[in-house]
Amino acid sequence: MPDIRPTAGSGALVLNATYEPLCVVSVRRAAILVLSAKAVCVADGDGVLHSARNALPVPSVVRLTRFVRVPYRTHVGLSRRAIFARDGWRCAYCRGPAETIDHVFPRSRGGRHAWENVVAACARCNHTKGDKTPAELGWRLHCMPAAPKGTAWRVLGHRVPDPRWADWLDLRESEAAA
Ligand SMILES: [Zn+2]
Repeated sequence: MPDIRPTAGSGALVLNATYEPLCVVSVRRAAILVLSAKAVCVADGDGVLHSARNALPVPSVVRLTRFVRVPYRTHVGLSRRAIFARDGWRCAYCRGPAETIDHVFPRSRGGRHAWENVVAACARCNHTKGDKTPAELGWRLHCMPAAPKGTAWRVLGHRVPDPRWADWLDLRESEAAA
């Protein structure tokens, strides 16, 4: 089944009181944080949210009014979505649209299911490759697969960032990893 690329703008970026990016929440959750004075809106999104008494611009970025200490997860979980996002939804072999996940060193021959051994691939390349290695076919990988790193990945995971978040996230990091 092909993965549909998620669209930007379906959430709000939450910043700590120190402006450090923390996570992405639903627009509704961000609005509740603002209405309960737990956060202030620092960048508006598109549209207006209405409640019984208030009309609030859709928040795109909110900042917590009190600092929270957060234990960081340094390891990015390996998921189908995350692999597609890392590889930019492109096949690692032909750069066509990716629809499948390929194990570079085939699992049938002991290849690991790990960031360093998985790539996004189109169905045609994946089928042609079968249980061979790229070297056996004379194929080249467009880049060596590796675990994604950086603040943008920690905060966004597989999400497509809203361009309005660029001031707070170093989005070049996630592009470099793609
Ligand atoms: Zn391909």
